[in-house]
Amino acid sequence: MLTLVLRIVPAMETAKVKRIYNFSSGPAVMPLPVLERAREEMLSIGGTGMSVMEMSHRSKFFGYVIEGTERRLRELLRAPNNYRILFLQGGAALQFSMIPMNFLPPDRSADFVVTGAWGVKAASEAAKIGKANVIYSSEKDGFRTVPEQSELAFSSDAAYVHYTSNETIDGVEFKYELDAGGIPVVCDASSNILSKPFDIEKYAIVYAGAQKNIGPSGVTIVIIREDMLDLVPANQPALLDYRNIANNHSLANTPNTWGIYTIGLVCEWLEAQGGVGSIEKRNLEKAAILYKFIDGSDGYYRGHAANSCRSLMNVTFRLPSEDLEEKFCDEAEAIGLDGLRGHRSVGGIRASIYNAFPREGVEALVEFMNDFASRNG
Ligand SMILES: *Cc1c(COP(=O)(O)O)cnc(C)c1O
Repeated sequence: MLTLVLRIVPAMETAKVKRIYNFSSGPAVMPLPVLERAREEMLSIGGTGMSVMEMSHRSKFFGYVIEGTERRLRELLRAPNNYRILFLQGGAALQFSMIPMNFLPPDRSADFVVTGAWGVKAASEAAKIGKANVIYSSEKDGFRTVPEQSELAFSSDAAYVHYTSNETIDGVEFKYELDAGGIPVVCDASSNILSKPFDIEKYAIVYAGAQKNIGPSGVTIVIIREDMLDLVPANQPALLDYRNIANNHSLANTPNTWGIYTIGLVCEWLEAQGGVGSIEKRNLEKAAILYKFIDGSDGYYRGHAANSCRSLMNVTFRLPSEDLEEKFCDEAEAIGLDGLRGHRSVGGIRASIYNAFPREGVEALVEFMNDFASRNG
């Protein structure tokens, strides 16, 4: 029988809370200073006597919050002024439907470059709305690779091309930005946005659920080129209409106010880290520590992705058997290395090491992997 034990943690105890190394793929680790700041401002923010989550989204104060978050994101992303930054709900997965509802007319098609599980979902949702062509899929090779740009041929009637810059479940990442020769490019960047510089001007739309690399769940960031808004058909349902949401500055209805505030804090933290260029350098170093160890393990650990397209954010690998993988995760968890189980659809191990994940946690994992292999060889 399950018994639920509720324990009130005394205030003094919270000051020395033990934090684990959180390898979760999302919702994922947040920067500690962000959590501390949010705690500080929980009861009263900026002298208002309220928490952000208690105030009207129409209030002047929340106006500062959302404008500040947008300005910070725009700077970090280097998004030019002809791009709008929107805060939506429904997750990245709602974009799989909303994009074709807005931009896939009955007489056109949309091209999909599928390099993992999320791309499969994006294409299958679009196919419910209109004509979706999967022009490339690496499914046959188990989603270990991404195509060369030269391997891609786009449909002549494509209204847009969709791809996933980092496949979170499979751990494969594009190392270049896709060029569709003038066809609008739509990119699901949920798990690598702000992990490295993106050239926003190459895209018509970049979207990302916040809970991997930018903040808490419940907010989706959409960066959309203004001319796309003119293509939105009339009579779209109001909350599925990018133009309506843009015209209302993401306040067409009540947005996730707490999430937007927290994203602003994460952006501030990222600025303090030196911005996207500096964080990329650190991300490269973190991933290199892990991949180098995997490659040097005499095949005990086997990386899933082909070397040329290994993700910097989601490091996927296998052990000699599923039983050992199970044991590995249990033992890791017991010493505070949490969230390493691969996605239920593919199994194996996945270490998600987003921007906020500390290098020391990667070093701790490698030390554990070394020890585990020597005990279970
Ligand atoms: C997590 C994820 C999604 C789905 O995000 P939700 O916010 O759960 O809808 C879509 N695409 C990618 C690449 C993801 O990593």
